[in-house]
Amino acid sequence: MVGMAVLEVECPICGEFLELTDEDRAQLELGDVIVCDSCNAEMEVTKNEGDDFDLELLGILTTCPNCGEEFDVTEETLGEGDIVQCPHCKAYIQLEFEE
Ligand SMILES: [Zn+2]
Ligand SMILES: [Zn+2]
Repeated sequence: MVGMAVLEVECPICGEFLELTDEDRAQLELGDVIVCDSCNAEMEVTKNEGDDFDLELLGILTTCPNCGEEFDVTEETLGEGDIVQCPHCKAYIQLEFEE
């Protein structure tokens, strides 16, 4: 193979593509955490062999605009249209990400 392969990983939270070069991947070990530049979501490397690369979303820390409490948003708690429910005050929040 010639040239540098770049793997694009789509952030499950904001949909932004994170680019990982072969060099980046060589430095990553299972259990390492990658942080999305765009939304600060944390993802753990669960597979990194050859063409196989996998990440598991750990969560994204957000502050509820209604009650001011912080909580973690995960893939499970994220609903349609980036809506999450605050576990403290039960308000529905639209997540907004910086461009
Ligand atoms: Zn993201
Ligand atoms: Zn709240």
